[in-house]
Amino acid sequence: MSKIHYTFILIFCFASTMHSQIIYYGNESIPCYPKVFHVSVHIVLNEGGEGSFGMSEIEEHFDLMNAWFEPLCWTFEMCKQDTVIDHSFNLLNQNRFTKLPEYYNDDHMLNLYYVSTSSIRDFCHLAPQRGIEDPTTAHVVMARTCVTNDLIHKLCHMFGLIDTYNPANPEFVNGSNCTVAGDRLCSTPADPYNPNTNMGFVNTSCQYISDIRDANGQFYEPMVGNIMSSYRGCRDGMTVEQYRTMLNTYLTLTYTPW
Ligand SMILES: [Zn+2]
Repeated sequence: MSKIHYTFILIFCFASTMHSQIIYYGNESIPCYPKVFHVSVHIVLNEGGEGSFGMSEIEEHFDLMNAWFEPLCWTFEMCKQDTVIDHSFNLLNQNRFTKLPEYYNDDHMLNLYYVSTSSIRDFCHLAPQRGIEDPTTAHVVMARTCVTNDLIHKLCHMFGLIDTYNPANPEFVNGSNCTVAGDRLCSTPADPYNPNTNMGFVNTSCQYISDIRDANGQFYEPMVGNIMSSYRGCRDGMTVEQYRTMLNTYLTLTYTPW
C-alpha cells in the first residue's frame, strides 16, 4: 500500500448518536454484539482540487450507517480523513476501481472513498463481496451519482449479503430452493428484478406492479423495501436473517478489524 499520493489532513474520531426509523423484518431478536469499526475516509479530488462530497454530508452518512447497524450494536467512527489528489480516480473506471484499495487503503480499517462518478455498470451496488474478510480490501466507494442508501447496500455486500435478485439463479416464489438460489436467504422472498430489462417492477409509490411469473407459474411478491433489492428509492429495512448473516461474517473473520 502506497501513501505517496496522500495529502494528509487530520485524524479524529466522530461518533454518531442519531436514530432513524429502519424496519427490521422478522419476529426473532437481533443479537447485540458491540463493535466499533474505525473508518478511514478518502475524498478523491477533481482537476480543480475539489471533492464531490462535503464533510457535513459525509457525517450524515455516518449517522445513516450507525442507524442501520444499531440492532447489531455496531457503530462506525470516522477516525481518519485524507484526500486523493490523483484525479484519474475521480471518474472511476474498472482499472482505477481495482487500484484504489491497492494504493490507498488503510489496512485493518474500513475504507470509505468518495468520487464524482463511475463508468462501471451497476456501480452503485458494487462493493467487494465479503470484502471485510481481508484486512487489506475492506472498502466501499460512493459516487455523487449514487443515492445515500446505496452506501448501506454496499456495506451489506462487504459484510456478505447478496442482492435479493439473481437472474442467473432465480429463487422460486414458493421458496423451495431459497437456500441455494436468489440471495440464499429464506427470509427474503423471490425477487424477479433483472438489470438487463427495461421492464417496470415498482411504481413511484413503491408498489410492486409486475405480472411476470416464476417457472412454476406463480406471481412474485418481492420485498421491495429490502436494502438488498434494486428498488433503490424504496429501501427501508432488512431482515433479521440478513443481520445475522452479517454478524456471522464478522464472527468468522481471521483477524480483528480496528
Ligand atoms: Zn448489490
